[in-house]
Amino acid sequence: MKVLKFGGSSVANSENIKKVLAIVAKASKEQKVAVVVSAFGKTTDNLLAAANSALVDITIAKNILETIKELHYQVIDDLISSQKKEVLEVVTSLLDRLCSIYEGVFLLQELSDKTIAKVSSFGERLSSFIIANAANELFDAAHKESKALISTNNEYLNAQVNFKITNQNITSFFNKTKHQVTVLGGFISSNIKGETTTLGRGGSDFSASIYAAALNAIELQIWTDVPGMFTANPRVVKQAYPISEISYEEAMELSHFGAKVLYPPTIQPSLRKEIPIRIKNTFDPQNIGTLICNNPNNSDEVKGISHIEDISLITLEGGGMIGIPGFSKRLFETLSLEKINIVFITQASSEHSICVGVYQDDASKAKELLDDTFSIEIDRKKIKPIIVENDLAIIAVVGESMKNYQGLSGQMFSALGRNNVNVRAIAQGSSEKNISAVINKSNAKKALNTLHEQFFEEKTKQLNLFVTGVGNVGERFLAQIQQQRKFLKENLKLDIKVIGIANSRKMFFNNDGIDLENWKKSLENGEPTTLKSFHEKVIASNHINSVFIDNTANEEVSEVYETYLRESISVVTCNKIACASSFDNYKTLKQVSRKYNASFLFETNVGAGLPIIDTLKNLINSGDSVHKIQAVLSGSLNFVFNNFNDKATFHNVVAAAQKEGYTEPDPKIDLSGVDVARKILILARESGYKIELEDISNNSFLPEETLNTKNNEDFYDSLTKNEEHFQSIYKEANDKDCRLKYVAEFINGKANVGLQHIASDHPFYNLEGSDNIVLFFTDRYPENPLIIKGAGAGADVTASGIFADVIRIANK
Ligand code: ADP
Ligand code: ASP
Ligand code: MG
Repeated sequence: MKVLKFGGSSVANSENIKKVLAIVAKASKEQKVAVVVSAFGKTTDNLLAAANSALVDITIAKNILETIKELHYQVIDDLISSQKKEVLEVVTSLLDRLCSIYEGVFLLQELSDKTIAKVSSFGERLSSFIIANAANELFDAAHKESKALISTNNEYLNAQVNFKITNQNITSFFNKTKHQVTVLGGFISSNIKGETTTLGRGGSDFSASIYAAALNAIELQIWTDVPGMFTANPRVVKQAYPISEISYEEAMELSHFGAKVLYPPTIQPSLRKEIPIRIKNTFDPQNIGTLICNNPNNSDEVKGISHIEDISLITLEGGGMIGIPGFSKRLFETLSLEKINIVFITQASSEHSICVGVYQDDASKAKELLDDTFSIEIDRKKIKPIIVENDLAIIAVVGESMKNYQGLSGQMFSALGRNNVNVRAIAQGSSEKNISAVINKSNAKKALNTLHEQFFEEKTKQLNLFVTGVGNVGERFLAQIQQQRKFLKENLKLDIKVIGIANSRKMFFNNDGIDLENWKKSLENGEPTTLKSFHEKVIASNHINSVFIDNTANEEVSEVYETYLRESISVVTCNKIACASSFDNYKTLKQVSRKYNASFLFETNVGAGLPIIDTLKNLINSGDSVHKIQAVLSGSLNFVFNNFNDKATFHNVVAAAQKEGYTEPDPKIDLSGVDVARKILILARESGYKIELEDISNNSFLPEETLNTKNNEDFYDSLTKNEEHFQSIYKEANDKDCRLKYVAEFINGKANVGLQHIASDHPFYNLEGSDNIVLFFTDRYPENPLIIKGAGAGADVTASGIFADVIRIANK
């Protein structure tokens, strides 16, 4: 014999029920089958909603009842023909009774647990009767009221089963029945007096397990809307996948901690008889699903992750508890007498506090009861009044063989920490089947995805990008990501998604990743943006491994980095302003980055995509120290002085540099040497020196009036006016057979920038186009410096430098 249970979504409408009947027909060819069904779709929710409405307004209740009726009559219409009249009679009389109960609730203004149980039982009474008759049109099938078989105590809504009576009822009924298929409603039971009781929401799984155990079934099949028990709730974790085999204990832990696919008490009866449970998908019957059994063929140390939302922590705390026995007994007794379920317990060995997790619905009642129980100690100030914290969630990592591996809890908590998920309380049973933590409910999704990545996706790492500035550099960057995504996924096991983009006017977000073919259109149709609203969106989307990318040259953007880092969101920037601001600010950003474990990378601040800062970091971290830096760091100035001579005008050469994208949007920042000064400042700081921009001597070659211009137009006019000045600079160098290079130097703690005459034997002499060059003189490279040289400006190389920083974060 087999027992097959079909959940609400499997029997939500005629189409689905047809699928169910095909599955049952196939199974019943081989042996007798007991079929346990839930109420159609959301019928139980509707029945309860109508009951609650009846207390206030009977017409609302009747409207809800109408939708219930429509669904049931529709299924009868679609699936039953030969016995239609008889079926309609029974169903109509049941629905009439239900309507009378609602009227009774309205008249008496009373809705007891007994009535709630009665009302909610109609879902399964109707569904099992209709499905049995629909089945009987196709093969031999009969209906049986489960109320007559499952016997319980008087707890109407969460009744405890009397297995002795129940098992007898079940075996004697099935011994007698001749039918190949018996259809029973799940969830419903009755007490000794014959009054309707129910087994708790989701209880049809439990009913099915009770039948399977009583009948010594060869297998219990739970048919639902997902192909098995997943490594995490598939609605919350997109990467979750079905677990092929899992032990009874592990399945029980996962379901206890929120894996709704199996109602927690379900395991017990089947476990006692060692009946294998298979979870299968009604909509994909070929899929093998999950097997729950005694000796699963599955060596993963972590099997799954689950969570429960809407948890409150109740803390009993005070010095008066230390060393005095009985506090925890009184706490648990008080809660258990009122049937308040404790989901989670921790107590530090100092005995200074005990902390329990309960469902939030029970929290205020629990506080009231406990404040009362401990009123004397509270009055005498031996303990504090009970502390309640709401809006929490529990996440649990489950696996029986976790106890054989060190470091799993370390991995769990460091992954959470890296993603800024604050852990409020921790519990781990000594059996170590489960490690659970209490966190803020708003972090549940992120925490689950983080842990899933940690334990199940080691091979693919996700990175979620938020990109501001989609002009020159930003546009190339998005194009490069688009081009490389597939390669990175296949070769580096790195899944990069761009979740948010913004320019100065608009922003656009897509939590599943923005389509990078069409981002311009999406952004055009996006919402208006501000730095604040962008930040709020990033925080609200709460993704793991988030990276904020600044492709602007904007000062205000550079001022928000800290707010991201404090949320453990990494920052990658080509904007130099933050690192070249006050030393205190630079230092703060570095400290915050370390404290919150978020990278702060700005490789492109010096030499675009050239690995200058990274090389410097490696030197310093490995114990080297820098004495001197000599560099040509301005791609734009290099371009200008490589192209300027007595046959060109200075104005035209600068204009060409700007056109090629080699200058900042404001070319004066380059020409005045400010940009170079910022770069040498950053290199000096990265070398470990405390230095400010004002400390750098800048021997500008621009005339005073050019330096004082207020806009680009005046600036260019002033270049034309001073052509003679620029020609004389050229001539002076040319007469000495030298070339002009704008050089930045850092020697013995002091930095300067300015034009220099470079003779032909110097490494700078042959520097072409917009190339940069840096010479590091260090302990290890005292005379022959370490040299980095290559294209140091341009949108493409800058974008690839940003990309390299993103990859550095992924590899961390
Ligand atoms: P049924 O109506 O068939 O009893 P339920 O809605 O009770 O189905 O349970 C199935 C649902 O459980 C899935 O649709 C899924 O959203 C949820 N779920 C939560 N955690 C898990 C998990 N770890 N594996 C599979 N499903 C899960
Ligand atoms: N119909 C009941 C409920 O929705 C029982 C079940 O489907 O398992 O809770
Ligand atoms: Mg269910």
